[in-house]
Amino acid sequence: MTILLMDALPHRDAWAEALREKLPGHEVRVWPDVGNADEIEHAVACFPELGELAKLPNLKAMHSLWAGIDHVTRDPDMPWSVPLIRMVDHSLTQGMLDYVTGHVYRFHLTMPAFEALQAQAEWHQQVPPLVEERSVGIMGIGVLGSVIAKQLAGLGFQVRGWARTQKTIDGVDCFAGDAGLTDFLAGTEILVLLLPNTPETADIVNDETLAKLPAGATLINAGRGTLIDEGALIQSLDSGHLTAATLDVFKTEPLPKDHPFWAHPKISVTPHVAAETRISTASESIARNIRHLESGGSFDEIDGVVDAKAGY
Ligand code: NAP
Repeated sequence: MTILLMDALPHRDAWAEALREKLPGHEVRVWPDVGNADEIEHAVACFPELGELAKLPNLKAMHSLWAGIDHVTRDPDMPWSVPLIRMVDHSLTQGMLDYVTGHVYRFHLTMPAFEALQAQAEWHQQVPPLVEERSVGIMGIGVLGSVIAKQLAGLGFQVRGWARTQKTIDGVDCFAGDAGLTDFLAGTEILVLLLPNTPETADIVNDETLAKLPAGATLINAGRGTLIDEGALIQSLDSGHLTAATLDVFKTEPLPKDHPFWAHPKISVTPHVAAETRISTASESIARNIRHLESGGSFDEIDGVVDAKAGY
């Protein structure tokens, strides 16, 4: 069984070593040293060169190193007939849980307002509400969003979630589709974005949706930069309707030096670090899926198989 690591990744030697260690008896090749392409049965990739996946005629599965698969599906020649498995991994989920919970608390405790007061050396005692008086709305309650929704509900926040299909999560008010969006937004004080990048989610945060949030709302984007109409976000912050935003993902990454987000007083930027794919655990997830398929297991039993029609 031959596996091809497709990308010019920064740590690809470590990835190759981890996969070899976890899949003894398998050959792990590193692109561009493909060798005989007919022998490759599993491709492991996060940002493969365009057209390269289509050159592997006997591929059984493609394994994305990231939870988001837009860097694989950007390839117009991607062989959609081959199942694509996105990364579902404990470290990734825990990392996102830590990131979102921390930034939700920062907004809940109104830290941006205190930081602005500190800059003016002003003592102004404005006591934040308690968690049970604060609502958090999560757009995207899939693998990551559902875990975060449960955790925040467990901490006492009023939690609501929005997805494409109706969900039921204990302690979480669930909304779905276009029909549920207005009500979802109207009751959301801290909005968390955990949607994938698809044609349907492009610029889903825009003038119209931002206006539906209550005045004083805040925003955390840990999904994809494509979700936000950047001009609309800046306008909403400048008007005071939205009071602060924390952004981890951007339409262009790295965020260009002259981008207005860097210097905006109400925006905090983190450089796409919310949830890192860690080699030690993620290589085990890939190895487990490959072993499962080799032993005759079906794709239905694997977490994260991409629905080609939905595109995520
Ligand atoms: P997932 O399990 O596929 O969940 C995606 C969620 O989005 C699902 O609830 C889905 O609805 C919903 N959704 C998709 N399209 C929608 C639409 N048109 N309208 C309404 N809801 C829609 O993905 P995940 O593993 O939780 O990851 C979510 C995203 O996080 C990834 O795609 C990636 O972009 C991002 N991410 C970012 C980082 C980072 O470091 N910043 C790290 C990991 C992941 P259904 O439940 O109805 O299908």
